[in-house]
Parts: sequence; structure tokens; C-alpha cells
Amino acid sequence: DGGVVFEDVHFGYGPEREILKGVSFVVPPGKSLAIVGPSGAGKSTISRLLFRFYDVSRGRVLIDGQDVRGVTQASLRAAIGIVPQDTVLFNDTIYYNVAYGRPGAPREEVEAAARLARIHDFVVSLPDGYDTRVGERGLKLSGGEKQRVAIARTILKGPPILLFDEATSALDTQTEREIQISLREVAENRTTLMIAHRLSTVVDADEILVLDKGRVVERGRHAALLAAG
Ligand code: ADP
Ligand code: ADP
Repeated sequence: DGGVVFEDVHFGYGPEREILKGVSFVVPPGKSLAIVGPSGAGKSTISRLLFRFYDVSRGRVLIDGQDVRGVTQASLRAAIGIVPQDTVLFNDTIYYNVAYGRPGAPREEVEAAARLARIHDFVVSLPDGYDTRVGERGLKLSGGEKQRVAIARTILKGPPILLFDEATSALDTQTEREIQISLREVAENRTTLMIAHRLSTVVDADEILVLDKGRVVERGRHAALLAAG
């Protein structure tokens, strides 16, 4: 379960301007879809419709075959795990930050999630390990480390759908590349939506949509899209 469908979705924040002009896609359960496009194309709007921060003006958004208009915000939050661009960690321990979505989770599970997010080795290299405090009054983590903690948190929570909303866009190319490699394992057998500026960051997606001015202008696999320029 956990498929996502957009069916001829139209949407505008106000009546004067349509932001999405008939967007359709299917992410089958366990598959990944990347949405790339320039700033202002409508990518974040798609994630907001998925979470039902807004409702479509025309068309449908389905999760698990169910129209999201019949689903509560609480169920949507449980079904979709989001890793946003800028994660703000709590001024608390690394354990607390990873286990945030599942308080009291056993250490082994926290560590397994951190391994998958490629942050475990770093954490155990610290004198206080998972008990290290982070944030303003604790250890200052790099942008990449923070994103890895956020990814570990989402993995541990275990939602059927993962949404990476520009999750690596703020990082340098090298760090972004490393995190993308671990995301490939994370995304395996889970329904995954990745939103990104650059085509180069979503090489592993099963399908890629190129969005421009609220329309899908191209769709395909990475190599084919690169060849098309
Ligand atoms: P992207 O994520 O691709 O950069 P967005 O979905 O954030 O694009 O925005 C698409 C368009 O919608 C932009 O023109 C933006 O200015 C407009 N927009 C975004 N949020 C709002 C809002 N809350 N009210 C009005 N217009 C908005
Ligand atoms: P912006 O600040 O970019 O104009 P919003 O305030 O609408 O946009 O949302 C900020 C981001 O948080 C969006 O990209 C949205 O997808 C994301 N988001 C969606 N659901 C959640 C959630 N449950 N918890 C935290 N962030 C969420």
C-alpha cells in the first residue's frame, strides 16, 4: 500500500492565477518519483496538496486509492514522512531527535535507522554517543549531519510514504551526493517522492517529472531526460 496519484490536478492560491495546470502522475506503492523544476514551478505546492494544507480546485489527489479530501490531517501526517530542506533539531540529545516520532523507541531500532541514514558511525565516534546534546546549547552539527538525523527520524517513524522536499538542496554537491546514495537504500520498497531543483540529484528515481510553470513538460528516466537536454 501507499501509492500516490495526482489526477489532472488544478490549483491556485487565489482565483486570479492558476499555479498547477493539470498535473497528473502515479507513484505505485514502493516506487519512487522525482519532481524537478525551477523555482516557482509549483513543486512545494504539490507537497502542500498532498498534506491537504490546501485542496485542489479541480482533479483529485489519492493516497492508497483514497481521495485525500476524505482523510484527516492526522492520518496524512502518519502516512507521509517528510524530510524538509532545513531541519531544525531540538536542543536535546541525538537519541531524542531521532526517536522524536516514536518516543521510547528501543536503542537498537534508533541505531538501525541511524545506520541506514549513514549517521551512526559519526554518532558513536562522539564521547557521549547518542546522549550527545545538539543544537544551540550543544554540539553544532553540519547541514549534512542535521539532514542525516532528520532522515533517521523519518526512517524510524516508518511511514509508508516518504517525501524529500529539497532535502539535500542546501548542501554542497559532495555531501548531497553522499546523502543521495544512502537515500537509495532508504527508499527501497517504499513509496517515495523527491522534490529537487536539479536533475543531477535524482538519478535513482524510477520516474522523473520535469515541472515548469505548473505543467509537466517532460517525464521519463534520468538517462533519457539527460539525453534530451
Ligand atoms: P517551487 O516549489 O517549485 O519553487 P511553489 O510551489 O513554492 O514553487 O510556488 C509556485 C508558485 O506559487 C509561485 O509562483 C509562488 O509565488 C506561488 N505561491 C506559493 N505559495 C503561495 C501562497 N501561499 N500564496 C500565493 N502564491 C503562492
Ligand atoms: P513555505 O514556508 O515554504 O511557504 P509552508 O509554510 O506551507 O511553505 O510549508 C513549509 C514546508 O513544510 C512545506 O514544504 C511543506 O511541504 C512542509 N510540511 C508539510 N507537512 C509537514 C509536517 N507535517 N511537518 C512539517 N513540515 C511539513
